[in-house]
Amino acid sequence: MPRWGENMVSKRVRWKVSIPPHLNEWATNRLVSAHIRTVNASLGGLILNIVICAAVLWGHVSANAILAGCGILGGLVAHRYYLANAISKRDQREHSHWMARAFLMNSIAMGLTTGLALALTIPAVSTGIALVLVVSGVTQIAGFAYTTRTLPQAALWHLGLILTGLLAGLAQVGGPIDLATGLLAITSTALQIIMVQVAYKSFVERILHERELHQSSETVRMLLNDYEAHGSDWLVELDANLCLTNVNRRFAEAAKMEATHLEGFPFLDLFAGNAARDNLESLLSEGQLIRRLTLATSDATPGEERWWSVSLHPAASNRNGTSRYRGVISDVSAEKQAEERVRHMAHYDSLTDLPNRLMFNAAVNRTLAASDSTHRHALLLIDFDHFKSINDMYGHPVGDSFLAIVGNRLAQTITKNKLGGEGHIVARLGGDEFAIFMGGEDVLTQSIRLAEHLVDVFAEPFEVEGHEVHAGVSIGIAQSPEHADSYQTLLSFADIALYVAKNEGRGRWEMFQPGLDEELHQRHSLARDLRSAVQNGELRLYLQPLVDVETSRNCGYEALMRWEHPQRGMVMPNDFIPIAEETGLIVPMGEWMIRTAVAEAARWQEPQTIAINLSPIQLRSASLIPTIMQALASTGIDPGRVEVEITESVLMHNSEANIEILNRLHALGLKIALDDFGTGYASLNYLLTFPFDKIKIDRSFVNDIEIREESRAIVGAVISLANKLGMCTLAEGVEHEMQLARLRQEGCSMVQGWLFGKAMPADHYARAERAEDRAADAA
Ligand code: C2E
Ligand code: CA
Ligand code: CA
Repeated sequence: MPRWGENMVSKRVRWKVSIPPHLNEWATNRLVSAHIRTVNASLGGLILNIVICAAVLWGHVSANAILAGCGILGGLVAHRYYLANAISKRDQREHSHWMARAFLMNSIAMGLTTGLALALTIPAVSTGIALVLVVSGVTQIAGFAYTTRTLPQAALWHLGLILTGLLAGLAQVGGPIDLATGLLAITSTALQIIMVQVAYKSFVERILHERELHQSSETVRMLLNDYEAHGSDWLVELDANLCLTNVNRRFAEAAKMEATHLEGFPFLDLFAGNAARDNLESLLSEGQLIRRLTLATSDATPGEERWWSVSLHPAASNRNGTSRYRGVISDVSAEKQAEERVRHMAHYDSLTDLPNRLMFNAAVNRTLAASDSTHRHALLLIDFDHFKSINDMYGHPVGDSFLAIVGNRLAQTITKNKLGGEGHIVARLGGDEFAIFMGGEDVLTQSIRLAEHLVDVFAEPFEVEGHEVHAGVSIGIAQSPEHADSYQTLLSFADIALYVAKNEGRGRWEMFQPGLDEELHQRHSLARDLRSAVQNGELRLYLQPLVDVETSRNCGYEALMRWEHPQRGMVMPNDFIPIAEETGLIVPMGEWMIRTAVAEAARWQEPQTIAINLSPIQLRSASLIPTIMQALASTGIDPGRVEVEITESVLMHNSEANIEILNRLHALGLKIALDDFGTGYASLNYLLTFPFDKIKIDRSFVNDIEIREESRAIVGAVISLANKLGMCTLAEGVEHEMQLARLRQEGCSMVQGWLFGKAMPADHYARAERAEDRAADAA
């Protein structure tokens, strides 16, 4: 239930001006305050009016009546004054409905008092005095109509009551003059009322319109604030001298300066001096539009570069043609950095941060193209000898660290020792292959010195993630213009030299020489011929006897492969097995060996062992187990007679999966021997990784068992550990009786070597056996 006076604005005049209900409070407040602004002046006028009337009436009416009227009116004036001046603005605002009601009451009371005074005094005085009273009443009506125009209800009551009093007074006199005066008073009041309505309406309309404007500008300001606070862009404004003006807080923060300091700061000084800034400067000086110009900021510290994208439009031209500018700046550092990274990644190797093959190719090509016959250059190709083992043994993360470390060391060694010659480039071409390109008068001696130095440096073990690794490098060198003048030829010649360095035992460097490429050709043609070797039946099975130390009897044979090349003659395994492994041909060749060797053993009269070598690559082949099962099934041989020889490397590469395969071979009944024991890494540990049936001690230990105490100690330790683990031991490469005696002393169970027989074609031993049998039969 609204209190009386509440909503008076909206209810009474809704047909004229509609104030939305939610604005009622606010509108009332505006109406009340507009009224308050006129109160003091109107009260001044009113007091004057009262004083004049009292003075005129003094002596004609009872003094008490005058004093009573003046007292009441004075109280109302005081009340009105109090409302307008003594109530705090805040209270006025918060209680605007109450204020409106208070003013309404005061107006009614005032109208009532004045009206009553007029009604009582006009008939009691002379025409002249009555005229003064009428004028006073009409003046008060006019004055009030004006000051209460924003509170029309108060105006209506006030005006109505005074008019009523005035008319009542005149009516009591009743002359024609009074009738005319009354009519004039009615007309004037009606006009005043219309004026109040019109003024009220236009006032309300104006405040509503103002509010609308205010609100939309508020919205704009809010959006701008929001943009400023949350957007990634900053608004900037430049004055005619291209200095910052109206600097906002966020931009100051972005520029890492005080806003006050930035005010008037030359805009161009924000950016690092370069071509982009020069471009910006000339565009600005011409008053051009700036569209997304990317510039580096001038406050960058190394590694902390910032880029801003600047868009500016000229706001207005002044008389000398220079423009003011407005626009936005956004930070595009992230995009720019990503762009830089992509560019860097395209040219640099991510692991070592050295130039990659692409960049190296381009740089060398460029240098060679710009060189004539007087310029001398050298290309070194560097390959780490044991990278693969390091990768296999410790895993790829360590392999990666290794590459990062050696890449760094390579670059450092060269710069520190000033061995790089003029404008050298160090690059990682891929994998563990690095390259150095260098120039200079004495590049021949320089490159050799560098190669020697690097070989020495990397011959020493060093630490990678807590592991001590032996890297070892092989280096191939080719010179320009001596060997080649094009990059491609230079590269392939360095590659040939590298190949030779590796072939000749690694850990060394080789300079390309004409004719070296012949060797590579040979290798290529060998690889080509090997492809057809299995189909063409060019592989041969050779056997070498295995001898029991105790009984000195032959207890089996190792199957060894030979390749009878139609042109080259007999090729030895060391010359073709690495090629077969590289090309993957080892798989069909190994399968041929399994079938042939098992079939051969199945024909023997004695149930001796056949030992077959398995390459690590074969072990990974899915066809290995089926091939072996097929060989066993088709010959019906006792699987216990078949022994496979694997090397330690099998336990390093992908050892889990390989051990699984060894277990399956064991499950088939086969024996498993660890070949070339002692040539790999951390050998003794491998004895514990799998229950081998036999350990074959490498020839290198047997070789100098008589002369080297160390070899003897190692052989002794291996034999005693193998015995403890229930493994049989076989010593390879026994060539002398003395070696045999020593091995027997150490407790070795089997031997193999030229002392008992070289590797011979299979039928050689079959024939020998038959001959032995015949001799036995004859005896
Ligand atoms: P390996 O398994 O260590 O074979 C023993 C090698 O030592 C054989 O060389 C053998 O002829 C040689 N040898 C044996 N006794 C003596 C000796 O008293 N003195 C000297 N100086 N050498 C002796 P071969 O036949 O040239 O084989 C070389 C290597 O080729 C083998 O070493 C083996 O790793 C590999 N190989 C041979 N045949 C096959 C095969 O069928 N498959 C695979 N995967 N590898 C094979
Ligand atoms: Ca072997
Ligand atoms: Ca061996």
